[in-house]
Amino acid sequence: MIFGVHIIEHTLTQLITLHEFQPVICSWILETAGRHWAAERILLGSRNISNGLTIRTGIDLCSASLKQHAKERGWWDGKQVFDFAASYSAEPVTAADLEGTRQSCGTALLEKQEAGAFDANAMMAILRDHEGGICMHGGFETTASMVSEIRRVRQRLRKQDEGERQETGGGVGDGAKEHITAKHWMTGKPHPCWSEFIEQDMPS
Ligand SMILES: [Zn+2]
Repeated sequence: MIFGVHIIEHTLTQLITLHEFQPVICSWILETAGRHWAAERILLGSRNISNGLTIRTGIDLCSASLKQHAKERGWWDGKQVFDFAASYSAEPVTAADLEGTRQSCGTALLEKQEAGAFDANAMMAILRDHEGGICMHGGFETTASMVSEIRRVRQRLRKQDEGERQETGGGVGDGAKEHITAKHWMTGKPHPCWSEFIEQDMPS
């Protein structure tokens, strides 16, 4: 999603990315393992999720038996800080293990974006990347792609509107009001490298 110039998040089957330039909107990453789950609140930066768990020790919310289950299975010793991805992933998740994977390449592509220049077109370009395996061909194929841009828009109020806001209790209280705008593009077919992203109408 792109919240105004603030947050950019994208979903492509197993790939989710998020970029937030100002801490004005709270975003959550939710990851599951069977009936167990963990959630992390994201206030700033970007996030790529490609084919695996990415929540580590920064858990803000989790299912009641998440840690106990990991301990019982021998995935966590109960002494070190609990690491969700390390405990619940089938494969190792150290930086060395992830080097060159779709996860690390997608993360690098997001991190090199400049905040002021990052927009929906930049997100589409990332989805068309082949070097890091983001656009997948072969045994596993990218079946469809989507980019959403969600903006929080602040609008200065005219004097009479500010009076109305104070009477009704609406707005943000500093002579401005906020509203959310959203745009969505989908390919609707495989391979964003040769498929056009078409803007879709969606109820907001
Ligand atoms: Zn491709």
